[in-house]
Amino acid sequence: MPLKNSLDDTIAAIATPPGFGGIGILRVSGEKAISIADTVWQSSQKLSKILPRQLVTGQIFSDTVLAVVMKAPHSYTGEDVVEFHCHGSPVLLQSILAVLFKEGARPAEPGEFTQRAFLNGKLDLTQAEAVADLIESETEKSAELAARQLSGALSLVVGKLRNDMSVLRAQIEAMIDFPEDEDVHGLYSEEIQGRLKDLKRRIRTLLSSYEEGRKFREGVRVVICGRPNVGKSSLLNALLQEDRAIVHVTPGTTRDLIEETINLRGLPVRLVDTAGIHGTGGEGRAPSRAERVSTAGRNPRQDPSIVNDPVESEGIRRSWQQVRSADLILFLVDASVPFGSEDVALYEKIADKKPLVIFNKKDLSPSPVPPPLTPVLSISAKNHEGIEELKGLLYGRLIGSPSMTSSEILLTNSRHKDCLQKALVGLERVEEAVQARMSLEFLAADLLIATNHLSEITGEITNDEILGEIFARFCIGK
Ligand code: GDP
Repeated sequence: MPLKNSLDDTIAAIATPPGFGGIGILRVSGEKAISIADTVWQSSQKLSKILPRQLVTGQIFSDTVLAVVMKAPHSYTGEDVVEFHCHGSPVLLQSILAVLFKEGARPAEPGEFTQRAFLNGKLDLTQAEAVADLIESETEKSAELAARQLSGALSLVVGKLRNDMSVLRAQIEAMIDFPEDEDVHGLYSEEIQGRLKDLKRRIRTLLSSYEEGRKFREGVRVVICGRPNVGKSSLLNALLQEDRAIVHVTPGTTRDLIEETINLRGLPVRLVDTAGIHGTGGEGRAPSRAERVSTAGRNPRQDPSIVNDPVESEGIRRSWQQVRSADLILFLVDASVPFGSEDVALYEKIADKKPLVIFNKKDLSPSPVPPPLTPVLSISAKNHEGIEELKGLLYGRLIGSPSMTSSEILLTNSRHKDCLQKALVGLERVEEAVQARMSLEFLAADLLIATNHLSEITGEITNDEILGEIFARFCIGK
């Protein structure tokens, strides 16, 4: 979505979430923000006359309202801004907004306040992105990462890299003046290669933090697999410590996917209970006419390869989709009964995804024939035994030992990762050019391309499409 809005307009929106609330905040930003806001404001002192950044009391539609004026450039957007703090009544807020629109403001698009902050130089692009990340963060750790990025920590690291690349380019350009001096060239090419190596190492360090950063920002998906009745719903409940999934003794009763998010030491983990999938059936496809004929007379409940119910069939299809996209699969085995053909068939279907094998029902006597798998852990989902150990194992498998220290940056955003990868490829091209003793002009040009990829991260170089995509993620009023 390209940017289509002019900065000349004055924009207004409700900044607080929809619905009833203790307070509701209206935000107006733009050249005419103060004069437009003054049309609804009733007080002995007009907003245009009050001291900026001081909360004042007045009336709007006989409601007592607090107002604050922030003058450009000392505001979030960098423009004149007025905020009204009203009672959190949606009707009241909408009525005030309607007047503001009548008086010349226009409805703000999603993220338009932050977009203006970016366009007016109050935030760079990584900081603007961090605003949305902070709002959407699901755990204290994701919030911490977003807040660190919002404070400009990533911009600082990228800025240093970009600066060092620019200095190198300037030096190469200076060398262009001495094209015949072989000695100088030999010396410089060594020096240049050393610097390129250092730049590449720093970019690689940032890139290597991405997998961990992404997981903290976006969360991970852990899918619980196992044949019906092994205790998947019970395990989900134990991990959630609340009764959400339906625990039932008849196999195959939890038809749909159940997904819940837990906060695992700051990592948002989406737990999916794939009820209904089994190893023998198709991956959720409806039976063909031939299958329906040949299976006539068999009981679909007892033969899991028969999926006649389109709802169940859809549920199974979705479950397999979850399995395919999982970050980690837990394969749950009921160790109190023999490992049957259904367990085998299901395990074979997921074995290549290296599932964590968990034995359940350790409170019951184990089956005389032990399952042919080695578990990483035995638990009792019903009695909540082994759940904490399981959480530790999960964290270890998903994150390993966390690399983040208080001074380190974790790359969390795929856009940043892509730009850094392109910059790295650019530096490799420069390196090859040095080794091939190519003309210095080529080196300088390639180095500029690599540097520009870093400028895309912070938004010094950008285009409307990228900006449109970034700000479309925001809510209205932010
Ligand atoms: P699912 O079909 O795999 O989701 O299995 P459920 O969670 O619905 O459990 C099936 C049955 O096994 C229920 O009666 C549960 O109470 C029981 N169950 C689950 N976990 C345990 C356990 O650790 N010990 C015992 N004794 N029973 C369990």
